[in-house]
This record gives sequence, structure tokens and C-alpha cells, in this order.
Amino acid sequence: MSMALLGGWKHQGPAACQTLHMRAMRLGQPRPINDDPLELIELPNLEPGPFELSIDVSACAVCRTDLQIVEGELEAERLPIIPGHQIVGRVAAIGAGVSGWSVGDRACVGWMAGTCGDCPFCVAGRENLCPYARFTGWSRDGGFAEQVNVRADFAFPVVTERPDEEIAPLLCGGVIGYRSLKVSGIEPGGRLGLFGFGASASLAIQVAVHWGCEVYVFTRSESERERALQLGAVWAGGYGESAPEMLEAAVTFAPVGSVVVQALQAVDRGAVVAINAIHLDEVPAFDYNHLWLERQIRSVANYTRTDAVEFLQMAAEIPIDTTIEGFRITEANGALAALKRGDNPGAGVLLIGD
Ligand SMILES: [Zn+2]
Ligand SMILES: [Zn+2]
Repeated sequence: MSMALLGGWKHQGPAACQTLHMRAMRLGQPRPINDDPLELIELPNLEPGPFELSIDVSACAVCRTDLQIVEGELEAERLPIIPGHQIVGRVAAIGAGVSGWSVGDRACVGWMAGTCGDCPFCVAGRENLCPYARFTGWSRDGGFAEQVNVRADFAFPVVTERPDEEIAPLLCGGVIGYRSLKVSGIEPGGRLGLFGFGASASLAIQVAVHWGCEVYVFTRSESERERALQLGAVWAGGYGESAPEMLEAAVTFAPVGSVVVQALQAVDRGAVVAINAIHLDEVPAFDYNHLWLERQIRSVANYTRTDAVEFLQMAAEIPIDTTIEGFRITEANGALAALKRGDNPGAGVLLIGD
């Protein structure tokens, strides 16, 4: 590697030259993805702080939120930052005060990097709403790197023999999609609508089908409608179409406000429309009759560790099928560009160390 690629990091003299290095794809300044905003850098190998693990990353899936951070649509909480919040790897080193982990253990980490543990939300088991929460790849460095430091109590053991790259896409879209199902209030066997059918919805449908739900999928993409039917949807149609039955719950995945109104029109009295989006364009004005009779709109924010543990266990048992497309770490910009174009056949995953 040439010095020109080293970014802001400077050699500190002969001693520093002898230290081991790790590579990372770091965001200095948000820019359109086609301008390659992520830069390959080398940093000294990480040492875990107190209550932290250092993880050797083997796979990190890419997510629309990474794209939004890299392009500046979602403002990074600090810069520079290494994005990536769907991380699978092995514990390389253990910080002071950590128990329950051994070097070499398979570990995975998602979007939640830490919460305060003391606020009313944390105390009430709603740590996903903690105002002091920190987020992997947004407020602290994430997994587009050969190593990452994480809070040990926010890492999860891997509970399946499946390869790391098949687990990585479960850690954001899967876990938050699972929380969305819970927020929607769908009961086993109930009639559920899914609006939009990207990576997260294609994982959520597998949980819903496992629960015996009748799933109705709305998406403008013909190939996504076909995939929905293959995964067990009883019906698939376009956004403008009406399902043959009134739905008992709905989750919207499309990052488009108008879809929320369409979902509201498709659900029965008393039903919840759960919005699975960290960033949404404006929800258009709509007739109050669509909300009347105790219909509800709820956003879904982050996840609790309980959600993650429940979902990862269920994903191993069902087992949930993930289709992935592998990229090298140096291809992180390309992986995000492919996500933006929407031409990924499966979830994009950086295969780190290959
Ligand atoms: Zn808190
Ligand atoms: Zn994500």
C-alpha cells in the first residue's frame, strides 16, 4: 500500500512501523456513492477497552442505513467514521471486566452499540429508545474493517453452524424486521401485509410464514412479487392494488411516505401499520377516515437485545434463508452502489479477510 492511501494516519517512527495493522474503509466526508466516499486506510491493530471485545471481522453486510450515512442523507454522529453494523467474526482480545467470552468465540454485533442502562427507557426494558444509545457504524466505528471494538454486553454469540456471511444480513434487516412484526401486533395465523419487499421484508416473511400467518405482499417489482410467492406469500401485487382480504396488521419497508397511507387503507379496524424505516420521505396528507376506528401508525426504532436474541435463535431454528452477494472489503463503495441501484440479487456482504 502506498502512503497516499493512508489518509489521515501518519507513521510515528520505527516503533509504529513494526506494529500490526488492520485495513478499514473509512468515511471522511459524505459524498454521492459514485464518488467513492469510503477510503481504504490502515490503522494500528485494535486493543479492547474496559468491558469491550476486539473482534476479527469475517463478514459485514451492507445496509441502506450505511448508504444514507455515507451519502450524508443521514448525518454521521461523528467523522471520520467506519460504517458497517452487521458484523460477524471471532473474538480476538478481551478487555478488562468482561466475563462470558473467550478468545476465538464466534460473535456478532448489530446496530445497537450500547445504551446507558439507567434511563427510564432502559429500566423499563425499552432500551431501543434510550436517548443515550450509541450505534455501530454511526456513532462509533463499525465493521467495514478487519477489526472492530464492541461493548461485550452488546455482542451476541453465534448460535448456528452456518457460515458467517449468511448470518451477517440477519443482524439489521432481520432483527429490526422481527421487531416490526412484534410492533405490528400480528398474531400467529393472522393476515399480515408487507409493503415493499427488499432484504428486510424477505427475512420477516419467513418468520411470519413460520408463525402460520397469511402474508400479502405489495411491491412494484415483478421479480420481488415472484420471490414473495416463493417464500410463502398467499398473494402479491402492486402498491395500487387491493388485497382480497382486509389485513389484520401491516409493516411498511419501502422508504416512501405514500406507502404508509396505502397500508393504512388496506388494514382492518383496530390494526397497526408498523413503519420499518429510520429515514422516510414525507407522509402525504390523508383522509382521517383511513385512521378512524382505532387504526394506528407506529414507527419502529432500533431493537432491544431481547429482540436480537429471540430472532437469532429463531433464524437458526427455522432456518431462515439468506441470499448473499459477496464483495471484498476494498469493494465497499461498489457494494453500496449496487444496493442503491437495487440490482443486488441478494444482500451485499463484505467478505473480510478474503
Ligand atoms: Zn438508557
Ligand atoms: Zn441496517
